Amino acid sequence: MMKIRHHFDDATLIAYSSGSLPQGMAVLVGSHLHWCEECRERASQADRIGGELLEAIEPVAMEPDALASIMAMLDEPEPKLRSLSTERLDSARTGLPLPLASMLGKPLDQLEWRRIGYGVQQYDLKLEGPGATRLLRIAPGVSVPHHTHRGNELTLILRGSYSDELGRFCVGDVADVDTEVKHQPIVDTDEECICLIATDAPLKFTGLMGRLAQPFIGL
Ligand SMILES: [Zn+2]
Repeated sequence: MMKIRHHFDDATLIAYSSGSLPQGMAVLVGSHLHWCEECRERASQADRIGGELLEAIEPVAMEPDALASIMAMLDEPEPKLRSLSTERLDSARTGLPLPLASMLGKPLDQLEWRRIGYGVQQYDLKLEGPGATRLLRIAPGVSVPHHTHRGNELTLILRGSYSDELGRFCVGDVADVDTEVKHQPIVDTDEECICLIATDAPLKFTGLMGRLAQPFIGL
């Protein structure tokens, strides 16, 4: 049973609900929602708020039953993720959340990982649009170089765990950080850590280690 302790900010869920996130971030949010009932409920609230705002700024001719039909719309269950049977199979076979499983099409261990430094491998999803979306696979005891953010960075833990200044992150947890945050995650068990990371702007590394790593990692 997955115990999720770290969730998204409201701002992220509202951006997801309004369809304004870059593709990689949207896949990451959808993947966490696949696992997290709490955020599914919050996202559905964000959908409702968005819908009501839309009604407020785009007045329509009022039918006698307008209110009843709006309320009926609000009571409709949230739209379900499109789930083709093959995608469901992928998700069951790989143990990955559905949106990510259907995008990768194969289990984590069968991806073509590229070594980008001591104890760190990367798989770039090469998605269109701003920012970057990649999987990082980090060996036990290894830390990712200290970095700050020019934009937003979302991280979803898929295997293992890490700790940093913000706390301990295990499978299913998300880290939702913006430009203010400077952190240095370190894998804190003897199991490797695999996480999905999506940004809407490049990361900026700090310190000597970071400056050395930056051109190398190409983040
Ligand atoms: Zn959540």
